Amino acid sequence: MSHRFFSETRLDFDPDSPAPARLTDAEAHHFLHVMRGSVGDRVTLFDGSGREFEAEATETSRREVTLALRSCAEVDREPAVGLTLGVALPKGDRQKVLVEKLTELGVARLVPLTTERSVVAPKASGLDKLRRAVIEASKQCGRNRLMAIDEPAALTRFLETAEADARWIAHPYSGSQPEAIATGSCTIAVGPEGGFTEPEVAAAAATGWAGVALGKSLLRIETAAIALAALVTCGDR
Ligand code: SAH
Repeated sequence: MSHRFFSETRLDFDPDSPAPARLTDAEAHHFLHVMRGSVGDRVTLFDGSGREFEAEATETSRREVTLALRSCAEVDREPAVGLTLGVALPKGDRQKVLVEKLTELGVARLVPLTTERSVVAPKASGLDKLRRAVIEASKQCGRNRLMAIDEPAALTRFLETAEADARWIAHPYSGSQPEAIATGSCTIAVGPEGGFTEPEVAAAAATGWAGVALGKSLLRIETAAIALAALVTCGDR
């Protein structure tokens, strides 16, 4: 795989008169100063739409790179199961680790949850940083669709509105071992460091969510989320 770059604007590919693509900001910095790229270099571009483009740099300035698109292909690197994870996010750097790993594993959507025992929900600037981490991880792992990160949602609303073939709430003490899923959609809720409260677990059960437990130890939030994501998304590779 050649070096991959992300285009913030959706790319249009018309083989007869292809419009140029532009890299700016962090992507231009990556090309110009990290990769030390120059005119004539060929790279792969993706715009989050599921397509991949071969492109050649035709012009560079200190802050911008112009590229000509040479070819376009639909390249699907998404897992067979569409997975949404609602997670009461951990603190600090562990958020970024979580987002990076969930992106690599092919999770379609991450919803930061506020729960009875959550400490804080991320602010807009925090969400922007996490969305940037999705792009970085997608460049590295070859995904052509970005994992969406929603605005924070209250657990009660998340439990009531989730529509999926399988709905799981991860709870160390009262769940059964999760079953493998081959296709369709799955939504999983992972709790905060203090865990879900019993009324929260009961509310989930009352709306048809299945309790799932992993192994015999208490996992940190991100370990539980990553392990569950791997279980659901890695089966079809
Ligand atoms: N002190 C809390 C543990 C919270 S761990 C308690 O006693 O419940 C944070 C979250 O990770 C939990 O709410 C749960 O969603 C998930 N989790 C951690 N370990 C797990 C396990 N062994 N099985 C299933 N989920 C787990």
